[in-house]
Amino acid sequence: MFTRSKIYICLSFLAILLYVCGCATPPEFKPVTVMKPQPKKIEPHPYINSQLDSYFVREWKYIVIHHSATASGCAAEFDKFHREKRGWENGLGYHFVIGNGNGSRDGEIEIGNRWKNQLDGAHAGVQEYNHYGIGICLVGNFNNSNPTSSQMAALTALVSYLQERCHIPAENVIMHRHFRDTECPGRNFPYYKLLAKTARW
Ligand SMILES: [Zn+2]
Repeated sequence: MFTRSKIYICLSFLAILLYVCGCATPPEFKPVTVMKPQPKKIEPHPYINSQLDSYFVREWKYIVIHHSATASGCAAEFDKFHREKRGWENGLGYHFVIGNGNGSRDGEIEIGNRWKNQLDGAHAGVQEYNHYGIGICLVGNFNNSNPTSSQMAALTALVSYLQERCHIPAENVIMHRHFRDTECPGRNFPYYKLLAKTARW
């Protein structure tokens, strides 16, 4: 026969057992999280600023990367060359030029007339890419040198900004040689490193 005290002893024992086993506390509720690729955070950059935001943008589908194939240069110098030697009335064929410290500051982003006025580029040699492609030229010859770290930081920031502003997917961030018989932007250009830092959508 169970006496009342024996029942109490049994219940106490059971309570201690539950407490020790950790069964007395209900399992903590953890909502199921679905892992989605997170857009990369755009690092602040001194040349990505309100001036760049102030320009109206039309439809663009591609970002096309070039090198100047010269050791030095800047937007004004290329603009003069394109006007005088190529006879292009809108001058500088690229939308942006990123300096390497020889001719303009290392990592400086110069905004061309064709971006300010949202004109077709004259950098691609193919109508589709001149019309829909934003041309970015890094000063340097990357067949025999490498872009500087400041140039790559500026390019990463600019490409990320333009992708977001113009809704350009990662697969449309391309090198000139993807569609033309050219080495541009040079054998040493670190394309996949760029994509790893800018990829989104
Ligand atoms: Zn090119």
